[in-house]
Amino acid sequence: MRSIMHMSCPRCQEGDVFKEANPYKFGSLFEMHENCPHCELRFEVEPSFFYGAMYVSYGYSVALFVATYLIMNWIYEPTILQIVGALAVMVILLAPLILRLSRITWLNIFVKYNPSKRGPKLK
Ligand SMILES: [Zn+2]
Repeated sequence: MRSIMHMSCPRCQEGDVFKEANPYKFGSLFEMHENCPHCELRFEVEPSFFYGAMYVSYGYSVALFVATYLIMNWIYEPTILQIVGALAVMVILLAPLILRLSRITWLNIFVKYNPSKRGPKLK
């Protein structure tokens, strides 16, 4: 969870995964470090590794849709057009964040935390 929340390396939880911390700087949205700046973990474990993050992205999007729908229904009874409009706005606004969250979650599924990789960089 800590690695996902801080978008840091899943193994050492110290190095940044993305070159730019702000996901809304569109020029560098997809730019990731090839290796962890702290523990040298190679982030792209195998070629096309991050294609699998699409499944995670789908899960996050469905959760977002359900939450938006439930909250809207809880507050008032929206029309179907209002629901679709709200979902479209949510998807457009949160797309960069969901993209990064899904990549870091996908990476965390395959790379385990290793406390011995924390601390000062050894080099
Ligand atoms: Zn690391």
